[in-house]
Amino acid sequence: MLEIPCPWCGPRAEVEFACGGESGPPRPADPGSLDDAAWTAWLWNRTNRKGPHVETWWHQAGCGRWFLLARDTSDDRVLASWPIGATPPPLPEEGA
Ligand SMILES: [Zn+2]
Repeated sequence: MLEIPCPWCGPRAEVEFACGGESGPPRPADPGSLDDAAWTAWLWNRTNRKGPHVETWWHQAGCGRWFLLARDTSDDRVLASWPIGATPPPLPEEGA
């Protein structure tokens, strides 16, 4: 089980959280201007890479806030967490 560091509550057990999936690119400013292929790509295409990547998490059994969490998918190691909109901490490069 992971220990997830909520930016507001501190370290808590994974069972208190729900993962919102990989953090994607920002929502297009005018989704209506996109064709179906571009809209579908924004909705569904993620990198799903092996190594450090950023996910959205919700502290559903705690403060109820969403935040960003960096996790290494190769070994399930949590690297950092921070509030959405805040400056992310420096993260290790892939393969480091
Ligand atoms: Zn919390």
